[in-house]
Parts: sequence; structure tokens; C-alpha cells
Amino acid sequence: MTEKLSTEQIKRLDDVRANYYEIRRNISDAAQKACRKEDDITFLAATKTVEPEIINYAVSLGLKKIGENKVQELLSKYDYYDLGHADLQFIGHLQTNKVRQIVGKVSMIQSVDSIKLAKEISRQSLMNGISTDILLEVNIGREENKSGVLSENLDELIDSVRLMDGVHIRGLMSVPPICDTKQEVCKFFDDMYKIFIDISSKKLDNVSMDFLSMGMSDDYSEAILCGANMIRVGSRLFGARIYR
Ligand SMILES: *Cc1c(COP(=O)(O)O)cnc(C)c1O
Repeated sequence: MTEKLSTEQIKRLDDVRANYYEIRRNISDAAQKACRKEDDITFLAATKTVEPEIINYAVSLGLKKIGENKVQELLSKYDYYDLGHADLQFIGHLQTNKVRQIVGKVSMIQSVDSIKLAKEISRQSLMNGISTDILLEVNIGREENKSGVLSENLDELIDSVRLMDGVHIRGLMSVPPICDTKQEVCKFFDDMYKIFIDISSKKLDNVSMDFLSMGMSDDYSEAILCGANMIRVGSRLFGARIYR
């Protein structure tokens, strides 16, 4: 790098470095408490609003998974990610008409909640000669206006999606409601874990319950204690988001 960084930029990178190691320590502690290995927990950074230079700095520290939640933003940053060292996933609400723009660019789409969306991912993947890994998103808090399938409709969704070529169910994802206490959010995490275990135990063809993606900046340790093996952390790593 020949360009000199401003004091402000240096401070920003220092913060990201300190945050990164703190999160890694907390993951390790939570994993230990849950009698699991740190390596079994996937740390994905939610990178919305974060500039590629900052994201790549985190990748240089050892971060291996990044997730965007808006198609437009992902495309505008796509050429700048260090994808030789990190794996890019899609974690936000996805409209069917935008599937085409990200299939082949992301290794996993975490937010599939309808047969229609899965069908389009299947169709676009087959056109590209690939298979796309997906997680099914569950609206565990039964919130109106929130993405995710209701738990009572999950079996039906799985039964259709697992028969589609070009998509592979790799687990479940959830964004629980905002809660006042850790106890409240843990109830949602527990519910998710039960559903996850229940589906795993059925050993369905073309369904691999490898990932339970839940827990964000404020509750990722609790999520791990409740059984999450993938957490999605944004602001705790990169600082408060500045929307431009
Ligand atoms: C932004 C985002 C996160 C991370 O949120 P923080 O609270 O900043 O950690 C996790 N999951 C999804 C789907 C997101 O959009």
C-alpha cells in the first residue's frame, strides 16, 4: 500500500482488529461452555454498509465468511472482496427477480423462505451448471412483515425443496424478534434448536442439517450456548453502521 492512511482510518482498523479478536475469544468461551469445539462454530461477518477495504482487513486477520443482505450492494462491492480468502454468502431478504444476479456469486443463500424462491434458485443454478447451498429461514417469533417461513409450514417447504435439482438444503437460519432480555431471546433460540434437531433426526434425502445460523452482535454467545453453529455479527465487529 503506497497511499497513506489517515489517523481516522488507522483508528478504524485498530478497532476492527480489537473487535475481531474479542469476538473470537467470546466464541471460544461460549463453545467451551457448550462443550463444543471453537472450530465447529462458523463466524460470518455481516458486512452491510462496510467498505470492501475494511472487510478485507478483517479477512486478513482470519475472517473466512462474509454475508451481504442487499443484492445491489453486493454487486457494487463484488469486484473488491478478497474472495481468494473469504467466502461470500447472501443473508438478506431476496426477491425472486433478483436471484439471477447473485447465483454463482455466492456460496450460500441463507434466507430462503418460499417454494417460489427456491424454484428460481434451482432454475438459475441449473442454467449455470451449478448447485447452490441454501438455508431455510424460519420466522421463529411469528412476526408479521418479517421474512421466514412459519414453523408449521417448514416440513412442507422442505419436502418440495429437497426434490429440486440445483439447490441443496444445508440448514436453518433465523432472526428472532428484538428482545428486552437474554432470557427471552434464548427461548427463541431454544425453539430453533429443537426444530433443527427434529429435522436432522429424520435424515431426509438431499437435506443436510449442517448449519444452524442464529445470533448477532448482541446475543451471539447466547445463541452458541443454545446450539447455533453459525453466527452473523455486524456492528460488534465493524462498529455502528453509517447509512449513506
Ligand atoms: C445486519 C445483519 C446481521 C448482523 O447484525 P448486527 O446486529 O450488526 O450484528 C445479521 N443477520 C442479518 C440477516 C443481517 O442483515
